[in-house]
Amino acid sequence: MSIRMPIAEVYRTSSVDDALAFLAEHPGARPLAGGTDLLVELRTRWGGPLVGKPGGAQGADGGGGADLSPASLLDISGLPELRDIRADGRKLVIGACARVAEVASSPQVAAAAPTLAQAAGSVGSVQIRNRATLGGNIMNASPAADSLPALAVHEAVCVLRSQRGGERRLRLGELVTGPYCTCARPDELLVAVELEGGSGWRQSYMRLGRRQAMTIARLIVAVLMRFEGSTVADVRISAGAAFPSPRRIEPAERALLGAPFSRAAAREAGEAAAEEMVRVCGIRWSTRYKQPVLAALVERAVRQCAAKEGLDEWPE
Ligand SMILES: Cc1cc2nc3c(=O)[nH]c(=O)nc-3n(C[C@H](O)[C@H](O)[C@H](O)COP(=O)(O)OP(=O)(O)OC[C@H]3O[C@@H](n4cnc5c(N)ncnc54)[C@H](O)[C@@H]3O)c2cc1C
Repeated sequence: MSIRMPIAEVYRTSSVDDALAFLAEHPGARPLAGGTDLLVELRTRWGGPLVGKPGGAQGADGGGGADLSPASLLDISGLPELRDIRADGRKLVIGACARVAEVASSPQVAAAAPTLAQAAGSVGSVQIRNRATLGGNIMNASPAADSLPALAVHEAVCVLRSQRGGERRLRLGELVTGPYCTCARPDELLVAVELEGGSGWRQSYMRLGRRQAMTIARLIVAVLMRFEGSTVADVRISAGAAFPSPRRIEPAERALLGAPFSRAAAREAGEAAAEEMVRVCGIRWSTRYKQPVLAALVERAVRQCAAKEGLDEWPE
């Protein structure tokens, strides 16, 4: 009797060039960064322990039709060149293998994108944050991933590299095409994420889960606002666990842009965000809960930004 294993081989790479060569030669290989999503996925797909026989006939799709071919893993976790976090002029460049804990505590991230620092600090637990990477959070493409709304309001650009195609730069919304789907080719590695930093933004990040920690978000809202006097000169709003892929919520932004801030406009923005979620996703089992809660969270996040500008009181 032969015992099948979900992992055929693990190749530990020593440089990005070496990693790209491995991916070019092994088209089915999966990059392994922190492994906090990938190892869970492989285990779930096999329905049992990582080493041994697949437990039962059912795969992750519940129908026994899951791909049970053993995976080749490319371990990129030890590549120092992918862990750098640096400010480059007005841009913030974060290596794909920067640990979520490093993003949460980085002074550069705190200065340029505190929303992202807060998002990173919300992920899982200390143990998960110490292993998980920002690149893994993006490439896993969960609609509830904590970093995605924060990256969306900062107009993040994802830098992909492959041996055959060189470098490709895609906006986050272009890279992540749907739940757990990206348009990255199998031979491409995400090497870095670039964020627009810049001063003068008022920021808010709000996350709702069933508990305070170790829980996947039920809803996330990230808002950036810039004011000229009391007028909203610029605004960016995004939400997580609300849309199939990361995006800015333009109807909500339009409710605020170019007008003096008011609580009524904040409420209108919240309602517009919730309507947009229903327009994009349709009515689902969770809509009765999520529609009013998303409206309230967006309204609060907008008011929190205004309060930081001295235009509202927070908390009431
Ligand atoms: C107990 C627990 C709690 C969690 N809580 C949260 C939470 O609160 N919020 C949250 O957002 N997530 C949470 N997660 C999910 C997970 O920790 C994050 O998504 C994490 O950031 C994934 O990073 P990683 O480095 O572990 O990715 P991996 O598991 O190594 O990889 C994930 C996917 O991305 C691919 N990949 C990784 N790096 C690259 C790269 N550079 N280029 C191309 N492809 C790549 C892999 O092949 C794989 O498909 C939790 C997970 C666990 C187990």
